[in-house]
Amino acid sequence: MTWRGVIAEHRESLPVTDATPVVTLLEGGTPLIPAPAVSDIVRRDVFLKFEGMNPTGSFKDRGMTLAVSKAIEEGASAIACASTGNTSASAAAYAARAGIPCLVVLPAGKIAAGKLAQAFAHGATVVPIEGNFDDALEIVRSLASDLGVALVNSVNPYRIEAQKTAAFEVLDDLGHAPVVHALPVGNAGNITAYWRGYTERGAGPHMWGFQAAGSAPLVHGEIVENPETVATAIRIGNPASWDAAIIARDDSAGRIDAVTDEEILAAYALLSERVGVYCEPASAAGVAGIIKHADALPEGTIVCTITGHGLKDPDTATARIDLPATVPATIEAVAAAAELG
Ligand SMILES: *Cc1c(COP(=O)(O)O)cnc(C)c1O
Repeated sequence: MTWRGVIAEHRESLPVTDATPVVTLLEGGTPLIPAPAVSDIVRRDVFLKFEGMNPTGSFKDRGMTLAVSKAIEEGASAIACASTGNTSASAAAYAARAGIPCLVVLPAGKIAAGKLAQAFAHGATVVPIEGNFDDALEIVRSLASDLGVALVNSVNPYRIEAQKTAAFEVLDDLGHAPVVHALPVGNAGNITAYWRGYTERGAGPHMWGFQAAGSAPLVHGEIVENPETVATAIRIGNPASWDAAIIARDDSAGRIDAVTDEEILAAYALLSERVGVYCEPASAAGVAGIIKHADALPEGTIVCTITGHGLKDPDTATARIDLPATVPATIEAVAAAAELG
């Protein structure tokens, strides 16, 4: 069977009709990759739902196909978003595909280079602000309603609705529900979406969400004014889907906890060095979380969502390497530099 994208594959579970123009880049259908090196540590079968394999390199594409399709159906002439990076990359690509303008409002200096490059490459209008994500969202929300532009942040209900399809794919690929599904939590749209997807199929894994310690409003039960973490995609102080995330946690008998930047970067290194999966730092938070709570994992299969691709945030990786000095272009010099033989 040929994969046709999230809307065509899951049409009967999504709010579309024959009148909905489908704007797709054939997102979804991402691999569920066994992770033996993680399994060894937590003593459970662990699989990674690698959402970095989506067209713009993050799970955001899954919701963006529906958000942009519905925006066009409803007559919007442009879309807008606030973003920590991946939403803008995805919005810009789908707007380019649909042939409409895209406005992106970003916290200045806090966006990974690869994501900014994507927004520009796809022709978005990018406005950096002297504020954080939460400020950017407030501004873009009121601009969008004044201008009749469709807001495609995760407050857009179509985003979460289509993101639930990732849970369907996990169930189809495993043939059963995982006992725990772990993932990073920022605005908390994705944990909300997976829980919706699982419950629509009568499945009930425990949902384990992980925030970065410097950016953990759901863990502390209060807004974080100045969130800080290396995991920029989850640097969110006031999650848009706060209440829904708490419901997902409680109804699934799950947990939402914090992991430190050190724990996140250790999981990030484990994934790239021993699993062969290169993700961005935020994406490793779910794996960091199951390692931290390995003793509390019930028996059964564990799934972690790896939310975005490592190439989006090369600065984190390159900051960790000491690029060696150049050597003459000879076999001897290269062999000596590589300490061969
Ligand atoms: C958006 C994003 C998250 C956070 O997802 P939420 O739905 O906001 O909780 C995590 N990781 C990556 C790579 C993201 O792009």
